[in-house]
Amino acid sequence: MGQSGPTRVLLVMAVAIATTGVGARGADYLSVRVLMAVSADLPAAARHPLVQEAESIWRDAGVHIEWVDERGSDTSPRTLRVVVDRRPGRPGHGGNWVVGELLRFDDGATLATVSIPHAEAIVKAAGTGAAHVSPDSVVQHRLGVVLGRALAHEIGHYLRASGAHASQGLMRASFQPREFTDLRSGTFEVDDASRRLIHQRLRLADRADAPLLLGRSSF
Ligand SMILES: [Zn+2]
Repeated sequence: MGQSGPTRVLLVMAVAIATTGVGARGADYLSVRVLMAVSADLPAAARHPLVQEAESIWRDAGVHIEWVDERGSDTSPRTLRVVVDRRPGRPGHGGNWVVGELLRFDDGATLATVSIPHAEAIVKAAGTGAAHVSPDSVVQHRLGVVLGRALAHEIGHYLRASGAHASQGLMRASFQPREFTDLRSGTFEVDDASRRLIHQRLRLADRADAPLLLGRSSF
């Protein structure tokens, strides 16, 4: 985990924090709004695959990630903040790789953190599979994919409103480093049970926001 270059960009610590809301547009359009803060020293070559991987995983599960600009006027009461930075992640247990974490606060706010150093450790542990050293661009791309998968996993916890894990797919409790970096890996799909639960929750949450349905408790 070397320095990031001669200029050694200092972390812009959680300067910008992401807000995420949940919303739905129409019966078959489900979305989660995400405002993400990423350390300034994460190169674009990793940042783009991060965004693409998280989007792709959730798109396949029928959920659209809306990236909200930090200066935007999003004031959704349902807010998930996402910070991708270099804070040391929580130590793993049982050999698990803990890249992300979801924190809940008393006021209902939720913060997802994703650790760049832990993702870098996973990329390193997965190796190149060959004797030669991978070019930087390849390493950065893998790093972005790992970060994106870790973020997608935390979004899954957020959408399920649960720390529970599934026996397969994205919401499994742990992954091998090689799976984490394997671009062909199909092990990051959202399992059917989680998908059903999340669709149900998103629709209910959306209805709860609709003024016309406020009296629904009389049912
Ligand atoms: Zn988890």
